[in-house]
Amino acid sequence: MKADDLTIQDALQWARQVLSDSESAALDARVLLCHSLDVSPVYLHTWPEKPLQENQWVAYQALIEKRSKGVPVAHLTGRRDFWSLTLKVNNLTLIPRPETELLVETALALFDHSPINVLDLGTGTGAIALALASERPGWQVIGVDFESQIVELAEQNAQLNQLTNVRFLQSHWFNNVPKQTFSLILSNPPYVEPDSPFLQQGDVRFEPLSALTADENGLADIRQIISQASLYLVDSGFLLLEHGHSQGEAVRQLLEQAGFAQVDTLKDLAGLDRLSMGQWHV
Ligand code: GLN
Repeated sequence: MKADDLTIQDALQWARQVLSDSESAALDARVLLCHSLDVSPVYLHTWPEKPLQENQWVAYQALIEKRSKGVPVAHLTGRRDFWSLTLKVNNLTLIPRPETELLVETALALFDHSPINVLDLGTGTGAIALALASERPGWQVIGVDFESQIVELAEQNAQLNQLTNVRFLQSHWFNNVPKQTFSLILSNPPYVEPDSPFLQQGDVRFEPLSALTADENGLADIRQIISQASLYLVDSGFLLLEHGHSQGEAVRQLLEQAGFAQVDTLKDLAGLDRLSMGQWHV
């Protein structure tokens, strides 16, 4: 298609057609057009008859073509919103998911604004650590991840959101965590079974397996975190872990065996088991 007099609404209609196999076709078409034109969603609504420039149309077609091959929208725009923050994302980490906001909500409900130390294990983009730091300026939050490039990404996101009460370190789980204690340790670790058919479909194919899969039916990393967490928790401190919807019972058992009390599982908005938590030595 040529750009001659092609309007915003023509471009959107064309893209919806190309993406029609996807449930999110209309939304993806709009988000990617905003990105190509560098405008807000309101602009698209207000100026549907506005013609595209040739270079904008070329850029948009390229994005829609990649999206039609399954590349996640967040990889195409390089951005994803999480909580109240906009985060830079790339293909080294998991794209932050809305259901992970349950970890943030739960953490905020457990502690008030008093200063505490918080540790986010496997922080990726820094999503959880940054959301907590933004809501609780008095907290000192540390986020760790195993690769230096991921730590750099999380640091960029702290700067982007002007958060100074959070720092990021390179550490594989607890290996390089400073010898101090935390009131709250939380993590969205990899927990998908390596042979899960879920990994063969959709956007997840473009995300790193290191952020998604774990041995022992998806429980290997969760087990490792639970076995070491108590060494880093204050008395009455909490451990919060995201997990798969069929793993609630297994994770509760691991927490209880490790000596945690008040062990509980919470459901996400879809009504599925999403996180389990325990309190150390109450
Ligand atoms: N819940 C994630 C998904 O739907 C998996 C994330 C993870 O392993 N931490 O892809």
